Amino acid sequence: MNKRNYQNELDKIISRNQGNRPTLLLHSCCGPCSSSVLEYLTQYFKVTLLWFNPNLYPEEEFVRRLETQKELIEKMGLSETVQVLAEPWRKEEYDRATAGFENEPEGGKRCEKCFQLRLRECAKIAKEHGFDYFCSTLTVSRHKNAVLINTIGEAVAEEFKIAWLPSDFKKRNGENRSVALSEKYGIYRQVYCGCEFSLKARLQPKMQEAETEKGRENESDNS
Ligand code: SF4
Repeated sequence: MNKRNYQNELDKIISRNQGNRPTLLLHSCCGPCSSSVLEYLTQYFKVTLLWFNPNLYPEEEFVRRLETQKELIEKMGLSETVQVLAEPWRKEEYDRATAGFENEPEGGKRCEKCFQLRLRECAKIAKEHGFDYFCSTLTVSRHKNAVLINTIGEAVAEEFKIAWLPSDFKKRNGENRSVALSEKYGIYRQVYCGCEFSLKARLQPKMQEAETEKGRENESDNS
C-alpha cells in the first residue's frame, strides 16, 4: 500500500489555487502549535481560526490557552487578518464523546474520540459559514498521529460536504519552528496535552516522587 504524503497533497492544492486566496477555517489546538501553521497558511489562505477545545481541563487552563492564542495572533501581527471564532468551554461534550475510554493511554481510543469531536465541529461550522476548506493544527505535533487525523478529517468532510485540507505540518520542520516562534514571542507553553487524564498522567510521577520523599523523611525521623 502506498503511504500518503499529506504535505505533498497540501502543496498541490496550494499550487492549484495560485492567484486565488481560498477561505480556510483552521481549528487550533493551542497557541504554540498554531504559530508555525499560521505563519505558513496565511501566505496562501484567508484564515479564520476556530477555538473549539472542550477537552481542556480545568476551565482556568481553557481560558489561559485561549488568551495565549489571542496574544500570539497579536504578537505575530495577524490580528487584522486572522479572525478568531471562539467556542465556549463545552466540557460535557468532551465527557460524552470520550465516556468509557477515560483510562486509555495517550494516543489511544480516547484521543481518537477527542479528534473526532473537534474536527467534526470544525467541519460543521465551516459548512455553515461557507468556507472553502477546513483543517487543524493537530498534525504539527510529533505526538499526534497524522494519518488518523487526516482520516477523521476526510470522514467528517464527506459527512458535511466540505473540503478537508490535508496536512502533516510537522514535516519540513513545522514542530521545531513552532517551538522557536513560541520562544520568540514569549508565550505560555503548556506541559500536558489538555484533558484531565493527560494532566493526571503528567502529575502522577511527581506525586509518587513526593510520596517516596515523604516516606524517606518519616523513616529518618523515626530512626
Ligand atoms: S490526551 Fe490530548 S488528544 Fe488525547 S484525549 Fe486528552 S486532550 Fe485529547
